[in-house]
Amino acid sequence: MAFDTYHLKRADFIFKDEHDWGQILRRAFQLQPNEIINELMSSELKGRGGAGFPTGLKWKLTSEDSSLEKYVICNADEGEPGTFKDREILTLVPYKVLVAMAVCGYVIGAKQGYIYLRGEYKYLVPQLQKAITEFEQFCREINLDFQVRIFLGSGAYICGEETALFESMEGKRGEPRNKPPYPTNVGYKGAPTVINNVETLAHAFTILKYGAKKFYDLGVQYSRGSKLFSVSGDTPKPGIYELELGMSLQDFVNEFGDGDTKAVQVGGASGFLVPRKKFEETAIGYKGKLSGISLPTGGSMMLFNSSRSMYNVLDNYLEFFREESCGQCTPCRVGCQQLHQGIRAVKRGEKPTSYLNKLLKLTETMQLTAKCGLGQSVANSFSSIVENFREEMIY
Ligand code: SF4
Repeated sequence: MAFDTYHLKRADFIFKDEHDWGQILRRAFQLQPNEIINELMSSELKGRGGAGFPTGLKWKLTSEDSSLEKYVICNADEGEPGTFKDREILTLVPYKVLVAMAVCGYVIGAKQGYIYLRGEYKYLVPQLQKAITEFEQFCREINLDFQVRIFLGSGAYICGEETALFESMEGKRGEPRNKPPYPTNVGYKGAPTVINNVETLAHAFTILKYGAKKFYDLGVQYSRGSKLFSVSGDTPKPGIYELELGMSLQDFVNEFGDGDTKAVQVGGASGFLVPRKKFEETAIGYKGKLSGISLPTGGSMMLFNSSRSMYNVLDNYLEFFREESCGQCTPCRVGCQQLHQGIRAVKRGEKPTSYLNKLLKLTETMQLTAKCGLGQSVANSFSSIVENFREEMIY
């Protein structure tokens, strides 16, 4: 093994009973906001949506803004292909998310929270609303002024991007904004906003309940704690698993593979495809100073065995990106089309194999010039598939 990783270890925090949520909420309000921020910062919890921004720092930066109007938003626009764990959190332990939102509101000085729910999860609204009603009733009983509203998305992948999400909530087209300014200062309705992924908030609850050390003791340096993984594809054990960060991909495949795993897509269509020969040297976690390769993921882990055509996989991803590009900037709008048409032309023999190199150059340009993560991340899956499975791309 190229560097020290944890062997795959299961954790059991997220879906554990939440019956004591009221007590956790009461206890949090006996602390000063800066004590809560310090606890989160010393846990080293990073955003579980994939980007990995330190959660405590996000709350701290928003708390430091002196604006009177602020918001807390739970990003439940779970749209990355292969990810299906946030809906389970909202189904099974919604009070953990609501408590973390209220505590965040207390820390930053916000009285209004929103859950931006993926349009396809509309079926969750009645039970979620029931939990919100009970939660708000409890808040009134303890003299806490905090409300939560559900905002239902309309099925656009790009609205999972935080600034596109704000635009969508404001009744505009869901298109990403330029950054900076960042949401900690200019977010929803131009006000300082904390926007956290569903799972991030559920982990914040774990930290409020058990303390930072319990969380910090899991995982590896730069990648502390546990994480939910949505495991799908060619696996005898598809499902949702809570595992420590820092495991090697080889250990993951040993546990979830079918004995014939040829590659794993880490992080959904916008992530990286790792071929079998790199399983040992790849760890699942945020980029840090570890040697070897460390790959972050919002949770999507798709396994492919030797019956799968990597060309078909890439064709499918590019069709998805082409469809979901908001079209605002040229590198992404035109680039996604060029890549999709390009690999089809090579596969049909209408373009020489060397054309793939031009397409790889195009992804580099997209990575540098596209406005948001969608256009920038197309290069991840494209280059990792074309470079590792070039023979499957050609006529
Ligand atoms: Fe829209 Fe793509 Fe540009 Fe992002 S990169 S702003 S999704 S066109």
